[in-house]
Amino acid sequence: MRAVQVQTTGGPEVLRAVEVDDPVAGEGQLLVEVAASGVNYIDTYHRTGVYPLPLPFTIGLEGAGTVVAVGEGVTRFAVGDRVAWASAPGSYAEKVAVPQDQAVAVPDGVALDVAAGAMLQGLTAHYLTASTYPVQAGDDVLVHAAAGGMGLLLTQLVKARGGRVIGTVSNAEKEKLAREAGADEVIRYTEVEVAPEVRGLTGGEGVAVVYDGVGKDTFDASLDSLRVRGVLALYGAASGQVPPVDLQRLNSGGSLFVTRPSLGHHLRTREELEWRAGEVLGAVARGELTISIGARYPLSDARQAHEDLEGRRTTGKVLLQPSA
Ligand code: NDP
Repeated sequence: MRAVQVQTTGGPEVLRAVEVDDPVAGEGQLLVEVAASGVNYIDTYHRTGVYPLPLPFTIGLEGAGTVVAVGEGVTRFAVGDRVAWASAPGSYAEKVAVPQDQAVAVPDGVALDVAAGAMLQGLTAHYLTASTYPVQAGDDVLVHAAAGGMGLLLTQLVKARGGRVIGTVSNAEKEKLAREAGADEVIRYTEVEVAPEVRGLTGGEGVAVVYDGVGKDTFDASLDSLRVRGVLALYGAASGQVPPVDLQRLNSGGSLFVTRPSLGHHLRTREELEWRAGEVLGAVARGELTISIGARYPLSDARQAHEDLEGRRTTGKVLLQPSA
């Protein structure tokens, strides 16, 4: 089968689609024929070695497909089942061995590519809005990169909980997408300064929570946009890691809270995975949550997919399609 491997860490050019042996379904594993693999920022951290993995490795964590074989001890799924996952190493491939405990059933009526696009970012947007800071009706919420994969999902989930979304984007095309997803206000941060705009839009108060996956470039504006006792959920670093911070700033800003959450810490048990995935995929099945697929690439173009994601040229979800 074909798989995208990293033999040495580095830029997008190290991604190579190569022929490898099919994986085997080990104990408790499903062998899945992949319909679509999700491209995520964490893949770029694995590729560059920011999060080191033993070399060589097949890159990718997320996907959806059809079970073609099951290993010993598999009880949850059978051959022919449609499944999706957010955490199965080696997912940029035609086939992948997925631990049954990481797989969830894809509801009828949800296409496999849509399910692949709903998992890693959908579960993240779920924990951020339901657990990290449970958004309340009437809350003002700042969502950075509102037209990105995470941003479009956060915007929809905040709106579903009755919050008011202020999104930031870099250009007019992204502003349109953010508004279509439900953003009430959109700040083009390339033209105006974010924190004063947020103050103006919130009667001087600031927002209850900032969802910030951009990191280094947005951190200061995020802190300056919070209301007294507001929460900064710094969930990523698309622009680079935030340098060390003087904690006294949390006091002068108004007894602020900062957290740096990860998906793994919010999928601690099978019950937690089923709860979050059930809510996300259920909302997709009912037409209440839209997975906006902004770009699709064949496995052989994984390099281009990473270049476009890191080059800020994508919107919504980026997928690889092994059959393309
Ligand atoms: P996006 O689709 O949001 O792409 C990143 C966007 O960030 C860009 O399109 C761009 O939007 C904005 N951006 C601003 N500055 C930069 C910069 N210097 N370089 C690149 N992008 C920049 O990506 P994802 O939705 O896939 O991921 C967003 C973040 O979420 C990542 O940091 C990722 O690590 C994090 N994440 C964290 C998880 C967790 O559990 N902690 C899980 C999943 C994702 P614009 O042009 O509008 O500025």
